Amino acid sequence: MRLITINRNKPNSSVEFYGCPMQCKYCSHTRAAFKDYDLDKVVQAMSDNGIRSVFIGGAEPSLHQQEALDLIRMLHKRGKEVVLKTTGHDPDFVANSKGMVSRYVLEMMTPLDDPELFTTLTSYDLPRAQEHLQNTRRTLEVLKGERVRATLRIIPERHDRDKVERIARDLKGHVEELLLTQFMSNPNDISYAGFFSPGPSEETMMELGKAARKHLPRVRVRGNGFEKVF
Ligand code: SF4
Repeated sequence: MRLITINRNKPNSSVEFYGCPMQCKYCSHTRAAFKDYDLDKVVQAMSDNGIRSVFIGGAEPSLHQQEALDLIRMLHKRGKEVVLKTTGHDPDFVANSKGMVSRYVLEMMTPLDDPELFTTLTSYDLPRAQEHLQNTRRTLEVLKGERVRATLRIIPERHDRDKVERIARDLKGHVEELLLTQFMSNPNDISYAGFFSPGPSEETMMELGKAARKHLPRVRVRGNGFEKVF
């Protein structure tokens, strides 16, 4: 298994898979190194009784479809709560994980009808961006009825109120929570497009949170030194 890292924190541990096809310039995962791990050894490491849940994330676990599903199956069999993160890249992978995953985390970047914006945030050209957004739409359908938290990094000058509201509308009826994170407020962000410090402002983040909350049951806003639930 090609992983960035495993973390054996108790009770919530994590396994971070290596590689994401989107290669966003502001994402630390694009620069992360990987190590090859043996599946049985990873399962063994996570079998500690003190570990209750395992977050399977990284960049995009579905790139390692077989290994990720084997890991999910084995952890589920051992009674672990599995939390799976995805970008929505592969709806079939997500469908195959159902019944073994307690909660999903879906990384959103743009409204589903905005492939142009998608091309400015990722390395994808327009046809690939359109395909990805189509896959995300299908993933949302696959996840209907599951426990899903969506996440959205708010990047200054890329995500305004209109974009955030459109994303919230796309997610309506599909997710129980949307987490908005302020760009550069956590170690997974790399400076990008001239932004080297956390932004947009706390005030703007709160306004975006309120706007998204009009369409969703719960919105969490997180940034450098602040967190609020609407
Ligand atoms: S930000 Fe998300 S979609 Fe972009 S490279 Fe990182 S993990 Fe992939």
